[in-house]
Amino acid sequence: MLLTLTTTHRPATDLGFLLFKHPGRVQEFVRSFGNVTVFYPEASDERCTVAVLLEVDPVRMARSVGRDAPCFSLGQYVNDRSYAASSLLGAAVADVFSTARSGRGDSHQELADTAIPLEISIPVLPCRGGPAVARRVFEPLGWTVEAEPIVLDDRHPDWGDSRYVRLRLTGTVRVADALNQLYVLLPVMDESKHYWQGNDEVDKLLRSGSGWLATHPDRELITRRYLGRSGLARDALVRLAELGDEVDEVFAPSDDDDVPHPEPGSTPDERPEPLNARRHKAVLDVLLALGVRTVVDLGCGSGQFLRTLVAEWSFTRVVGTDVSTRSLQTAARRLRLDKMSERQAERVELFQGALTYTDERLAGFDAAVLMEVIEHIDPGRLPALERVVFGAAHPGAVVVTTPNSEYNPVYEGLDGMRHPDHRFEWTRDEFAAWSARVAAEHGYTVQLHGVGDVDAERGTPTQMAVFSHE
Ligand code: SAH
Repeated sequence: MLLTLTTTHRPATDLGFLLFKHPGRVQEFVRSFGNVTVFYPEASDERCTVAVLLEVDPVRMARSVGRDAPCFSLGQYVNDRSYAASSLLGAAVADVFSTARSGRGDSHQELADTAIPLEISIPVLPCRGGPAVARRVFEPLGWTVEAEPIVLDDRHPDWGDSRYVRLRLTGTVRVADALNQLYVLLPVMDESKHYWQGNDEVDKLLRSGSGWLATHPDRELITRRYLGRSGLARDALVRLAELGDEVDEVFAPSDDDDVPHPEPGSTPDERPEPLNARRHKAVLDVLLALGVRTVVDLGCGSGQFLRTLVAEWSFTRVVGTDVSTRSLQTAARRLRLDKMSERQAERVELFQGALTYTDERLAGFDAAVLMEVIEHIDPGRLPALERVVFGAAHPGAVVVTTPNSEYNPVYEGLDGMRHPDHRFEWTRDEFAAWSARVAAEHGYTVQLHGVGDVDAERGTPTQMAVFSHE
């Protein structure tokens, strides 16, 4: 099993810094499923290629699988694992390049943050659904896909194609994104994960899919194939829908695009409205009821809620801010900032900033929204955010939403928090206590509300606090 990754970004040998693997060395890693060798078949200023060679050891693998593994048959020994790229190769790549995958670049951080020309080649990849599926999955991520079917037997062309393709991807992509995409998408192509899945599988998927999966038009196919037929896929999709920032299309269909057809057998009414849509509606209703004219969305992420705000002409000024420039770029695309009429553009503004540092640009608004943001702040930094938002900026009203941790047991298979980046999730009492203290300290009154389906004991999935001067 072989995979090569090439860059022509000059000096190309910087790839070694990005991967934390020296181009002059051959390195071998011994793992439970076999040996992984990392080496550079070419390394010049113009072009540098790293190769990952995985030699699967079926015997070692069969011995190391846990008692819970689903299969004890001969299939463990007689299969295509040794020859075809699969989830094992994805796991090997993720493992040997784990630092690079996290986005860390140390001495070359700027390069690690930059999309650079890359070429990925996999000579034999099992691909259920054929080349069309490979294109569906990789093209929306910015790759040019060449997927050539491999004939079953070249002495018997009449037997047709095998389920394998030769895959070549070219594109301008961040190295960390490329590695995370391979980790998730190789098993998606193969549609069979090699090891038994645990509950942290959903977290792993959300973490590796961060920044690209939620906005992928085929995220449902990817999630279902990655997590298999277990209830985990449903759980992951629910959680993707939960995460305001993590779902929905980036390139919103324009008005004349086709409206997607509902799935066969379901009418649109039967599908529950996603929680993030209900959250948007609840916060919008509050802002309208308060007669707000100018509003800032703090931690606006990729700008889903901003789109709702911009569509409402009673708001004369709509501003979005976030610490993440990548999210802001997505937000600008989503809002089509570059194509806005002058009249629209005058109302709308995006800027980058951190909510834990005083910023004059945040002052003077009728209302500020903190939607699903506070739980991303380290508890030790939360007092800084309180001072910046409620103290220094001091808008007429502040609307805060955050998960209600008491509701979490309703999500099957959810062990920890709803998203790997959450620093905390509060019970209703904890949120009420925080809200009351912050209101008292900064001269607001506060009212608490629930958003989403009500569970008699656990309350609603989202909790909302409305701070105002009434
Ligand atoms: N409000 C959006 C996004 C929620 S995700 C929504 O509901 O869809 C949380 C967002 O908070 C992320 O976009 C993250 O980049 C941002 N964020 C986290 N810490 C921040 C900080 N210190 N300052 C500003 N934004 C921050």
